[in-house]
Amino acid sequence: MKEVKICPVCGGKVTAKNRKYCSPKCSKEGYRRRQAKYSIEKYHKDKRVKEDGKPKEERPIEALARKAREAGMSYGQYVALEHTKRIL
Ligand SMILES: [Zn+2]
Repeated sequence: MKEVKICPVCGGKVTAKNRKYCSPKCSKEGYRRRQAKYSIEKYHKDKRVKEDGKPKEERPIEALARKAREAGMSYGQYVALEHTKRIL
């Protein structure tokens, strides 16, 4: 059985067996994105707990989700992108 996997970073075909990404470069980028997504989710979670009982019109996480929809991206993709911009 032959299955074609798609690289989650560049959307290209993953030809190598037992590989999630098409190249070491994408593998590195994918790992970085996962880390970025995780840290941002953790940040918002912590912040939400701290700000509890202090209602706001639009939470940063909601603003991001809205911007992501407007950009036609998933929330995770958008957040990873924004995080990448910030740390560069
Ligand atoms: Zn790739």
